[in-house]
Amino acid sequence: MAIIIDGKKTSADIKAEIAAETAEFIKASGVTPGLAVVIVGNDPASEVYVRNKCRACEAVGFHSEKYELSGDSTEEELMALIDKLNDDKNIHGILVQLPLPKHMDVEKVLLRIKPEKDVDAFHPYNTGKIMQGKYDFLPCTPAGVMELLARYNVEIKGKNCVVIGRSDIVGKPMSMLLLHKDGTVTVCHSRTVDLPEVCRRADIIVAAVGRPNFVTADMVKEGAVVIDVGINRLPDGKLCGDVAYDEVEKKASAITPVPGGVGPMTIAMLMRNTLTAAQKSIK
Ligand code: NDP
Repeated sequence: MAIIIDGKKTSADIKAEIAAETAEFIKASGVTPGLAVVIVGNDPASEVYVRNKCRACEAVGFHSEKYELSGDSTEEELMALIDKLNDDKNIHGILVQLPLPKHMDVEKVLLRIKPEKDVDAFHPYNTGKIMQGKYDFLPCTPAGVMELLARYNVEIKGKNCVVIGRSDIVGKPMSMLLLHKDGTVTVCHSRTVDLPEVCRRADIIVAAVGRPNFVTADMVKEGAVVIDVGINRLPDGKLCGDVAYDEVEKKASAITPVPGGVGPMTIAMLMRNTLTAAQKSIK
C-alpha cells in the first residue's frame, strides 16, 4: 500500500503559510500583493482556472484583478493591456491564461510581460534562470511537484528520476528542478524507445503526458514514487491522471491521486510566486 501524497491538504497548508506571511508583509510594508489575471475568449476550462486563481488570491489576502477580453480581440489590444499592467504599481504578478486564440502569437505575448511580474515563469528570461538554478520564480506545476516531494521527505539525491513529457511548461522545467536536487534524470517523450523499460529503472516517475492510464503497473519498479501531473477528462466527465492509479498504487511506495494531487499545488505555487514578486518589488 502506497503513501497517498495529499496535494489538497499540502496546498491548504501552504496557502495558510502564505496568508500568514502576507499579513506580516502588508503590516511591514503597506503593500498588498496584487495579481492580474487576463483571459481572452471564453474557454470554459480557462474560466474555471481563472475563477479559482482569483478565489485563492482572496483567501491569502492578495488583491486580484480579472481582465476578460473577447475572443476576437486583437493582439495589439492584449499587448496594450499587458503594458498597462506592467506599469501598474499595485500589480506584482501578471498571468495570461493559456491557451490564447489562434490568431495570437503566444510567445510574443508572454515575452511582453515584465520578467519581474512573470509569476507563471514562462518568460525566456525566467526559463533561462531556471536552467542556471538561480531563479526567483519557478513554473507553478513543477514547483508544486518539488514541494510535494520535499514535504513528503522523498529523497531525490542520487535517485533515478524519469520524467515522461518534455513540454516547456511541465516536462522540461521539471527535469531541471530534479537535476538541481541531484537526481539522475531521464526525460522521455513520444520518440523514446522502450519507454516501459526506462520507467522500470526509475525511483521517481513524474508523468506529464496527457493520456489516461498511460503509466501501468508493469512500468513501475516496486517501491517507486509516482507523481501524476496529468489531468484528463474521460467521456463520462470524470477527471483522471496519466497513471493507472488502482494498479500502480499497489506497487508504488508513494503516489499522487488525481484529482487532489499535483493540481491543487499549482495554484498554491502561483500564490507563492505572487508574494515573492511583491516582496521583491519593494527591495
Ligand atoms: P503537452 O501535450 O505539451 O506535452 C505532452 C508530452 O507528452 C510531450 O512531450 C509528448 O512527447 C509526450 N507524449 C505524448 N504521447 C506520448 C507517448 N505515447 N509516449 C511518450 N511520451 C508521450 O502537455 P503538458 O506538458 O502541457 O501537460 C501534460 C499533462 O499535464 C496534461 O494532462 C495536462 O492537462 C497536465 N497539466 C496539469 C497541470 C496541473 O496543474 N496539474 C498543469 C499543466 C498541465 P513529444 O514532445 O514527443 O510530443
